[in-house]
Amino acid sequence: MSDVLEVLNPATEELVATVPAATRDDVDAAVGRAATAQRGWAALAPADRARLLRRFAAAVDGHLEELAQLEVREAGHTIGNARWEAGNVRDLLEFAAGGVERLSGRQIPVAGGIDVTFLEPLGVIGVIAPWNFPMPIAAWGLAPALAAGNAVILKPAETTPLTALRLAELALEAGIPEHLFQVLPGHGAVAGDALVEHPGVAKIVFTGSTRVGKQIMSKCADRVKRVTLELGGKSPNIVFADADIEAAAAAAPMAYLDNTGQDCCARTRILVQRGAYDRFLELVAPAIESIAVGDPLDEKTQMGPLISRSQLERVRAYVTDDLTTLRGKAPEGPGFWYPPTLVTGAAPTAPVAVDEVFGPVAVILPFEDEEDAVRLANATEYGLSGSLWTRDLGRALRVSRAVQAGNLSVNSHSSVRYSTPFGGYKQSGLGRELGPDALTAFTETKNVFISTEA
Ligand code: NAD
Repeated sequence: MSDVLEVLNPATEELVATVPAATRDDVDAAVGRAATAQRGWAALAPADRARLLRRFAAAVDGHLEELAQLEVREAGHTIGNARWEAGNVRDLLEFAAGGVERLSGRQIPVAGGIDVTFLEPLGVIGVIAPWNFPMPIAAWGLAPALAAGNAVILKPAETTPLTALRLAELALEAGIPEHLFQVLPGHGAVAGDALVEHPGVAKIVFTGSTRVGKQIMSKCADRVKRVTLELGGKSPNIVFADADIEAAAAAAPMAYLDNTGQDCCARTRILVQRGAYDRFLELVAPAIESIAVGDPLDEKTQMGPLISRSQLERVRAYVTDDLTTLRGKAPEGPGFWYPPTLVTGAAPTAPVAVDEVFGPVAVILPFEDEEDAVRLANATEYGLSGSLWTRDLGRALRVSRAVQAGNLSVNSHSSVRYSTPFGGYKQSGLGRELGPDALTAFTETKNVFISTEA
């Protein structure tokens, strides 16, 4: 395995940077440093920890454009998305900072004394991040973990280490203590695995493929190590005939094409009630064909390239010649380009209809009634997100309750907000991130009984 990581610009295939890959020894040394830094951090007054996190947020805010440009170069994201992503890191840090002084235990009535609980930090947290949203997903773990009094070692994905490294520099400049937040770029099977196996790492926060997530979960089981998993998705977009079909059709393309479909919440199974199917397709087809695909730095671009050649090959392999497709445009020449694609008439059990493709590809399938919609929506091993479009409030609530997914939206495609919980049912994950309880997930509850009778 190479001892350097080559970062390529996905839009041009040009080499952006080479970064040394961390070894197992590097991980071991980083864990030792982090453990020392964590003890000092946890001993600080909560108000001081909060203040430093706000300074870190301000440093990110002061470098939004730089971070966004870096994200465009290493991940090929559109510049508008990349700016949002950098802003999301700032928001996550501010939100977490607001929780530091509110992270309180409870006082529980008992006989013979008083009983109190403390929310203690876990220690050193290993965050293993993917390449699809390098900055926000890193910050989902990083911000609440630090706020709850932990140290963090972040291992970014092989293809996207640059924004993570820059965030660590900004943290230091903002006054976050040395070694409290370390970034170790490296290979998953080396640096990632070393974090998972290290006895000094108390919890692993992993986002990525279900395959690797399962391996990590089983390794964590050996040590009863805490683990949060955010894995894949194959989310439904359910459109009932009573919905505002124009609005549903207008929103459907970017609900799976945003970030070139490399989004675990992408609404890649468009389920449309039979009575509205033809009208919906008539509206959605020209919208897909006219999506602006190209230079991610052009403000008008809606969709950029895929992350890598291997991801491009993976996506191509799903769209087999026997499938009927509607396609948009994609640039020719260098870069990992794939056009917006909608597969019509696939069998509901076809690989393209059940697997996470992680590219700009969706299937559209008809359904008969509410029961059929729920059956189809749940006919997958995943359960991360989903949308439903209807004007019937009762139906919206019934279907929201019946779909087995962690994040649903009605008459919209919203999934992730830092202030609301996020996570998956079934094989989409384990545990929840973000939301009001984000900090608690990085603590251990300690119960103390104090006798008043001694
Ligand atoms: P991956 O799961 O291999 O990588 C995600 C992260 O895990 C990376 O940082 C990687 O270095 C690390 N990793 C890999 N093997 C590891 C190991 N044995 N121990 C510890 N860490 C390890 O994902 P990928 O290969 O980059 O992408 C493959 C597919 O995964 C995609 O096509 C997509 O379907 C899915 N994916 C999902 C998400 C998501 O947000 N849910 C993100 C990325 C990829």
